[in-house]
Amino acid sequence: MDQKIGVYICSGCGIGEAIDCQALGSVAEEFSIAKVDHSEMLCGVTGIETINSDIASGAVNCVVIAACSGRVKTGEFCFDPMTVISERLNIREHVAWCQPAGAEDTQMMADDYMRMAITRVQKTTLPKPYLEELDKTVLVIGGGVSGLQAALEAAKADYKVILAEKEASLGGQMLNWYKNTPTQAPYQELSEISVQATIDEVTSNPNITVKTNVTIEKIAGAPGMFDVTFSNGGGTNRIGSIVLAAGWKPYDASKLESLGFGKFPDVITNVQMEEMAKAGAIACPSDGSAPSVVAFIQCAGSRDQDHLPYCSAVCCRVSLKQALYVKEQNEENKAIVFYKDMRTPEQAEEFYKQVQKNGVVFVKTDTSKVTISEGSERKLSIETMDELLGEPIQIEADLVVLATGMQPATLDDPILNLEYRQGPAMPQLKYGFPDSHFICFPYETRRTGIYAAGCVRQPMTASRAANDGTGAALKAIQCVEMASQGKAVHPRAGDMSYPDLFIQRCTQCKRCTEECPFGMYNEDVKGTPLPHPTRCRRCAICMGSCPERIISFNNYSVDMIGSMIKSVNVPDEYDEKPRVIGFICENDAFPSLDMVGINKLNYPPWFRFIPLRCLGSLNLVWIADALSKGIDGIVLFGCKFGDDYQCHFIQGSELANTRMTKIKETLDRLVLESDRIRFEQISIDQYERIPAILEEFTQRLEELGPNPYKGF
Ligand code: SF4
Ligand code: SF4
Repeated sequence: MDQKIGVYICSGCGIGEAIDCQALGSVAEEFSIAKVDHSEMLCGVTGIETINSDIASGAVNCVVIAACSGRVKTGEFCFDPMTVISERLNIREHVAWCQPAGAEDTQMMADDYMRMAITRVQKTTLPKPYLEELDKTVLVIGGGVSGLQAALEAAKADYKVILAEKEASLGGQMLNWYKNTPTQAPYQELSEISVQATIDEVTSNPNITVKTNVTIEKIAGAPGMFDVTFSNGGGTNRIGSIVLAAGWKPYDASKLESLGFGKFPDVITNVQMEEMAKAGAIACPSDGSAPSVVAFIQCAGSRDQDHLPYCSAVCCRVSLKQALYVKEQNEENKAIVFYKDMRTPEQAEEFYKQVQKNGVVFVKTDTSKVTISEGSERKLSIETMDELLGEPIQIEADLVVLATGMQPATLDDPILNLEYRQGPAMPQLKYGFPDSHFICFPYETRRTGIYAAGCVRQPMTASRAANDGTGAALKAIQCVEMASQGKAVHPRAGDMSYPDLFIQRCTQCKRCTEECPFGMYNEDVKGTPLPHPTRCRRCAICMGSCPERIISFNNYSVDMIGSMIKSVNVPDEYDEKPRVIGFICENDAFPSLDMVGINKLNYPPWFRFIPLRCLGSLNLVWIADALSKGIDGIVLFGCKFGDDYQCHFIQGSELANTRMTKIKETLDRLVLESDRIRFEQISIDQYERIPAILEEFTQRLEELGPNPYKGF
């Protein structure tokens, strides 16, 4: 493409009062560009028409919009990405609204941003999306509530679905249930189990092929071209995307010996209680007699550091339901619920109140022991402290039901058996649930094109699991549609770039294959990366990791960012105008910088921010380049990392931090102080911290004095 760059400068929204826009245009004209145009309201009809007619006439094919944040006016400044390269240069929030109007340093800031924006465009090429013949079939693994719903939703949207279930019949755990907790207003009465109707709908839908008695032997390939091999002669199918709805398993009650499980036959789990009710009668396993006093022990092993440290969210509701079974069997029966806290969110509170009215007794306590009553062969005894009465109590029961929690079915079984270089299972969080960005993209997993739904994702009720199936099915559809257009899914949805490797120079160091959080690369026996572009989320962490700097994108590269740094005008040391490069994550921190401007907060004018797709894409050569050019300091703004990370690419921010430990070598080589580099974790709502951080960093740089490389 022969670039014809048009620069369109807006002086509205206070920009014209803060910046000399004509002078800014002159800076643009130092570059080889087609035209500069000024407007008092670029987003108005005339401004947009000017740009569009310049594009239509062929006068320009690259546009730099020097105006407001790229997060606003996206409808107005929208150009065909296949034919036009466009760049939003934010001189409103990032300059005019956070710097003193008319000041020399404010102008210098805008001028530098203009140089950087034009450089960025010059280093960008038009996208060549990865377009292959892709399959759009959705595979749903697991025929429980969430899997059935996911299959139905995808089929109703006219996608072919394969539903794979390891058991002989569909329905999952719900098949063994007697009744459900209330699902309809006024949320006071138990609901009938309706799973059979859903099964019938699934089995009669012509878009759905059901495979029972099968597990997944192997999944090879990538979104749009997964090759899934089933066990038991189930064959191999080409698949577009996958919903993992493998469900849950109860916590192993045999680990709860102090509560009597495995020791006393009349101590059972809530799952066993449900099966008994479904079979027609609640009976004591020891002698088959009908119990007249049934005790429910909540949080049996849950919220307990020695067992399951988390709350499974549903066990309280399940015990309320089962307490009603006890009353239904015989009105005279006693049901006593021993609870740490009753957790009945949303409408379940109505159900809780109703159960109280039905004569079920509640005791607030932390039950740690179940024994056999003195002088009895089988009567169970619970001695505990009633926290509301403040007194010890002792209660005898015929049957004790332990409300055990839920664990994901994937805990000890990879289920998917992925043929990925990074292993057969999906990366997990510490309790075995799939690693995902729990705030922004709940269904996403770290394997692109595979979406988790229902209790394999997190403990939840059956109604919520069904909703989850719908959500994950929509994500699975989105994935195959985006992939078939050569576009990324979350979080850079629509991005048509993907990693391009200059493989002749690859040293097979394996950093990219190891560090890609999404397992995009397999590798051959020698360690050469084998890209699978539809797995890629376009974070560019591999680009940051590659010591040979041979990974790039059409619109993002080591050379591009390096050139942007070089385009910054660095005054000499006598000017007392330090220069600081800010590498800033585009997901949270960069929008926070917009918020700084929107709130008219002020920070020192020495900073030049460069948005990165993820801080993990930071290549150390940029730091060396910047420091050897005379830049006085470097600040990195990334997302929070650690267990409750906020990084949109899972590990990117943390990887950048790890890489920073290696930067000391560069600093030593250049004989520079390590304080010239600062790493900060920031979330989108912490914009107020930014000015203080920048102020304080500026003071530290003043103490250190100018970078001795200035002028070289
Ligand atoms: S690290 Fe990011 S950009 Fe690189 S292959 Fe993996 S997902 Fe794609
Ligand atoms: S990081 Fe770069 S050099 Fe190393 S294996 Fe990947 S592409 Fe090759």
